[in-house]
Amino acid sequence: MTSIVGAEALEQSYDVVVVGSGGGALTGAALAAAAGLSTVVLERTDWIGGTSAYSGGACWLPGTAVQQRAGLPDSTEGARSYLAAVLEDPDPSKVEAMLTEAPRLVERLEADPLMEFEWIPFAEYYDAPGRVPMGRSIQPSAIRRDQLDAAVTALVRPPVDKDRAGKPGRSTLSGGQALIGRLAAMVARDGGVIATGVQVTGFGRDDDGRADRVLAQGPDGPLEITARRGILIAAGGFEGSPDRRAAHATPGDAAWTMAPHGTNTGEVIDAAAAIGAATDFSGEGWFCPGLAQPDGSGTFTLGFRSGLMVDSNAQRYGNECLPYDRFGRLMAQAPERIPSWYLFDDREGGRLPAIAMPEGDPDEHLAAGTWVKADTLEALGAGTGLDADALRATVERFNGYAATGVDEEFGRGQDEYDTFFASAGSPNKALVPLDQPPFYAARFVLSDLGTKGGLVTDATARVLDVDGAPIPGLYAASNSTASVFGSAYPGPGAPLGAAMTFASLAVQDLSRNQAQSI
Ligand SMILES: Cc1cc2nc3c(=O)[nH]c(=O)nc-3n(C[C@H](O)[C@H](O)[C@H](O)COP(=O)(O)OP(=O)(O)OC[C@H]3O[C@@H](n4cnc5c(N)ncnc54)[C@H](O)[C@@H]3O)c2cc1C
Repeated sequence: MTSIVGAEALEQSYDVVVVGSGGGALTGAALAAAAGLSTVVLERTDWIGGTSAYSGGACWLPGTAVQQRAGLPDSTEGARSYLAAVLEDPDPSKVEAMLTEAPRLVERLEADPLMEFEWIPFAEYYDAPGRVPMGRSIQPSAIRRDQLDAAVTALVRPPVDKDRAGKPGRSTLSGGQALIGRLAAMVARDGGVIATGVQVTGFGRDDDGRADRVLAQGPDGPLEITARRGILIAAGGFEGSPDRRAAHATPGDAAWTMAPHGTNTGEVIDAAAAIGAATDFSGEGWFCPGLAQPDGSGTFTLGFRSGLMVDSNAQRYGNECLPYDRFGRLMAQAPERIPSWYLFDDREGGRLPAIAMPEGDPDEHLAAGTWVKADTLEALGAGTGLDADALRATVERFNGYAATGVDEEFGRGQDEYDTFFASAGSPNKALVPLDQPPFYAARFVLSDLGTKGGLVTDATARVLDVDGAPIPGLYAASNSTASVFGSAYPGPGAPLGAAMTFASLAVQDLSRNQAQSI
């Protein structure tokens, strides 16, 4: 089904054609429309927002007025030090572009009555110079649906609990839904067009080499739309494609990704490569432990409050309270870690002591065998196939650490992130003994919030060709690109923060392009 907001039908040409409708795409579209450029957003599914709509809406955008208003010790300089410490082999020009653009972008967006940000306390992911205590991430404030254009809010992808588990929706848009709803309303108000049900399949270049066309599949057949000033690709990664994941040796599995079903399969990246774009498939993603679900999916889990993770040898292999991407990377290091089992006791009444999006129904998990419940550790071993002696030894060792408050193997509870969610232990907030039967084991796989290898771009988000020269008219941001952060996930909101800043830089650059007459 196609919906078009802002027009009766699609035109044959626009100043700006935006591919995808996540946070980066809609930031670009909103800024382009606000600058008076005719703008169209093409989204393949019936919903706008992709994974961005599922998200918490945290944006790692350092040094803005929002952190100043919150009285945080944040600054561009501090963020520069932090990134210098946590990024491996970054492109300095892109890092600097992001740092410089972040405050300007937020100022521009907040000048619009439809956009408002606030600080959210959420610890950053590395203990490194420049880290801000309790984090520097910001998010769009929640907004009631009836405060935005109804035609737009009707298209915003439901929250993950509703989309994946059929839970009730919300009348207030918050987190990622607020980001998508607010930005899309700005696009529509300023004359932009948003079309769903249109899958982009290719790009074309004119005789001078300028990328000037988008080829797409609409409900009534193929479409060709020309872009007078530029094309912005911000259409997710290839996390939903088993073949592309295998080809680029990306850990995890398309069945376990958090991208909404039917969204991000990477054909847009390949289509850009087909007209000469360089790619850097690093095998990278934003990884996380994924709670295995009865339907074979894996769901994003963070913030473990008690319990411990073991591999197929019943051994712990890391600090379970690490930031999720860092724990996911540990999972990816050895085959005996996928699947893992998360062991927990009855202190939360048989619920997983963590935030899982979605958790699923405990009874369904137990019936499907994705969870096992037993009165003794021996029986838990029998139910999971874990060696009972090894399991008992691991749990006894862990309970000893809980008693002394010192995790001698992995240092759990020493970092501010560890105790951000876990607070019930004593003397160490993050170490709670496993001693209240019945005991549970939940199966875990390696999930992700998207891949982050793809199109190679420069500091103004221009897509580069295999010789390192910009392809005129072609821009990219979001998980469609090789990430500015490489293998690191600096803090909450890094995916959206980067996507939004580079989309903004793209629009500034393409605004300077001479409009091509078609
Ligand atoms: C539960 C959860 C919470 C998260 N919280 C945060 C957070 O707070 N902050 C943060 O920064 N990150 C968060 N993330 C991660 C983040 O949401 C994603 O990594 C990021 O939003 C991806 O943005 P994107 O624009 O690349 O892709 P998406 O947001 O997925 O958007 C891509 C869109 O492009 C469309 N598309 C794909 N191919 C085509 C095509 N060929 N033609 C037309 N359209 C196409 C897709 O259908 C999709 O709608 C979270 C993720 C999850 C699952």
